[in-house]
Amino acid sequence: MSAYILALDQGTTSSRAIVFDENGRPVATAQQEFEQLFPRPGWVEHRPEDILNTQLAVAREALARAEVNPARIAAVGITNQRETTLLWDRRSGKPVANAIVWQDRRTAQMCDGLRQAGLEPLFRERTGLVLDAYFSGTKLAWLLREIPGAAEAARRGDLAFGTVDTWLAWNLTGGKRHITDASNASRTLLYNIHTGDWDDDLLHALEIPREVLPEVTDSSGKLAETDRVVIPGAPVIGGIAGDQQAALFGQLCLEPGMVKNTYGTGCFMLLYTGDRAPISRNCLLTTVAWRRGGQLSYALEGSVFIAGAVVQWLRDGLGIIRSAPEIESLAASVADTGDVYLVPAFAGLGAPWWDPHARGIIVGITRGTTRAHIARAALESIAFQVADVLDAMREDAGLALTELRVDGGASANSLLMQLQADLCGIPIARPKVVETTALGAAMLAGLGAGVWPDDAALNRCREEDRHFLPACTAQERQARRAQWRRALDRCRNWTG
Ligand code: ADP
Repeated sequence: MSAYILALDQGTTSSRAIVFDENGRPVATAQQEFEQLFPRPGWVEHRPEDILNTQLAVAREALARAEVNPARIAAVGITNQRETTLLWDRRSGKPVANAIVWQDRRTAQMCDGLRQAGLEPLFRERTGLVLDAYFSGTKLAWLLREIPGAAEAARRGDLAFGTVDTWLAWNLTGGKRHITDASNASRTLLYNIHTGDWDDDLLHALEIPREVLPEVTDSSGKLAETDRVVIPGAPVIGGIAGDQQAALFGQLCLEPGMVKNTYGTGCFMLLYTGDRAPISRNCLLTTVAWRRGGQLSYALEGSVFIAGAVVQWLRDGLGIIRSAPEIESLAASVADTGDVYLVPAFAGLGAPWWDPHARGIIVGITRGTTRAHIARAALESIAFQVADVLDAMREDAGLALTELRVDGGASANSLLMQLQADLCGIPIARPKVVETTALGAAMLAGLGAGVWPDDAALNRCREEDRHFLPACTAQERQARRAQWRRALDRCRNWTG
């Protein structure tokens, strides 16, 4: 009897569920968007009930569409938007506030205060992160400070904190289990990635009592029993991982030096470093990739703020394309950019440059420049930024990188992938299943529940769609990247 796995992919704007078969092929999918709340400038919230209800609804819908007997669902895998912070009452299971979404900036000042108190090196060394409002720790501290009685209730052990995985697992188990996996824990600013435990010094700095925190589990294994009222057939939760870590697993980056990049609105690149947790000199993050058999594995993480978003800008801001995919044929209609460079520093520059005061620029325009050259320069800008992050990772990890595995909406663009291979000087590998986040959660869950005996068995779940090999000389590459750096220099510190 063949087995199936239900992957729950709880994202920022929608909840998705995919049923996978034993070959890692998606059998049925369902998706529902839910409301984004913006109660004040800089604040972003979700209703915890919306997260839960849409996730359960799509799970049931996907199961119904797959037309498989619930008894054949061997495991549930959970992957989730990371860092989003929830707090609920342990007795009633009712949230005491809306979820504070990762994008929410309300604790920026709190982070400034911690920095002024000289605590940044401590947080960086213990957690691998930077002190930023993005992560969960200061969000939880804010809730405990601002909700009347919450700090006291948390100390008594009456409240439960969780990231989205924890909230889902709590509800899938009928309130029996308060757990998070180590990859999600590593995004809280509270978890010591070297010792693998919540860190008392960091908890003290943020005035967070241990009693409010979940138990940290492996990312794969028989992690918890689900309640049959909630999920038909009551399969075990076999895997949990944050979305980017799940994608890294789904791309089977399981050897040190293997690296994936997701091309969405922005880019998320993760380099697997195995049992080493290098602290970056280039402002990259060090994060837990996953914990298996009690053993922590790590990754370096870097992001590009504006990637697919520059394509959206060409479509919506400039109106020179009607749809995102159209950029490929327009950019391919010219042989090169005519020496035009576009730096999409719309909201400053991320790793490895970190300049919040940079702003976008197009340079090198002549009388002969057309929209096709601009479109090509826009695509190149994505590839240049990714190449810069890749170099920073290579340097920080001290590893030779032999291939970049890609996924995400814009990875469908073959011209972009070819440019990427040219500018990085390594092959680009695009898989057939680009739903790597959900696939990764399914793989962790399937391994955990024994659907696959070992990692080697996962290889049959990975089918390559296309390989892109570097087609330019090292000299050409260096010249183009040097020119890109000159363009970068011109846009830096613009508003400063
Ligand atoms: P997200 O998960 O961030 O919403 P997706 O993975 O769905 O992103 O990818 C959507 C992004 O990819 C959009 O920014 C869009 O402009 C871009 N995109 C989609 N198709 C293409 C394409 N063929 N070429 C270039 N960019 C594309």
